[in-house]
Amino acid sequence: MNKNSISINGFDRYSFIRSDKSWLNEKFFDENSRIIPIHNLNVLCDTTENPGAVYLTHNDLTQTSDFVDSLVFLGIIDETPCFAIDINSNESASNIMKKKDATFQDLRPVMPLIGSRDNELLVLARFTSYWHSKNQYCGKCGSKTKSSNAGHVRICMNTECNENFFPSMDPAIIVLVSSGDRCLLGRQKEWPEGMYSTLAGFVEPGETIEEAVAREIHEESGVTVEKIEYQHSQPWLFPNSLMLGFIATAKDDEICLGDNELEDARWFTREEIRSDSKILPPKISISHKLIIEWVNCE
Ligand SMILES: [Zn+2]
Repeated sequence: MNKNSISINGFDRYSFIRSDKSWLNEKFFDENSRIIPIHNLNVLCDTTENPGAVYLTHNDLTQTSDFVDSLVFLGIIDETPCFAIDINSNESASNIMKKKDATFQDLRPVMPLIGSRDNELLVLARFTSYWHSKNQYCGKCGSKTKSSNAGHVRICMNTECNENFFPSMDPAIIVLVSSGDRCLLGRQKEWPEGMYSTLAGFVEPGETIEEAVAREIHEESGVTVEKIEYQHSQPWLFPNSLMLGFIATAKDDEICLGDNELEDARWFTREEIRSDSKILPPKISISHKLIIEWVNCE
């Protein structure tokens, strides 16, 4: 399996090996491999105040029939093969928790406490579990599907149909709109008090991403934009978005709230954002990054 790594952060998907069943089988039963269990979309963390990810080996698993259809080879990190499995029985989940002195927890609240490389694996494992559970039946003929290609494809079991289903992400734009020394932020009513974020929305079929930026900003805030420039992207697999981060300049600054998504939208100065820590969205979000970059670029 020699191959030049192209990974940026040490995680390599090794997609070429997904069809090699004997290699995958050998690595799954290798004590040095890492298995990430998912139960009801929750991830396994230790029970300390600052929980960390807990991984398994095949020895920690007793009822292998539980997860055989959800086993996914994620890739290799620091030369360690990583697999994700869905633990769908409560009894198995309970046995694992006892054995590892750990609990299955909702990933989003613990993400800021877990290192970014562990987060990347846990998010991906959680997503694969979500995707397999959502694609148990063929969307074309309604028959059962089965997992294939190390968990990266589901195939319709009706031989006359044979439709293949692949995991995918939905593109969404997120935009820091500025007007002179102010930027446009909005909030939804269920967010923590005082928190605002850059405006965002999904790209519609047939649209370019720049068209989506102009449409979404206008629909949500009434503001028209120009000078739309791409900055960064962030996969946000809750459940399956790919966030595409932009900056844009307002042609006019009159706000007229539109499609009921936002409770409020306002123009903020750099000073206002610097002086009120409640305004910023969580550090792990691309919105936080776009806002901080703008605040720091005077
Ligand atoms: Zn089918």
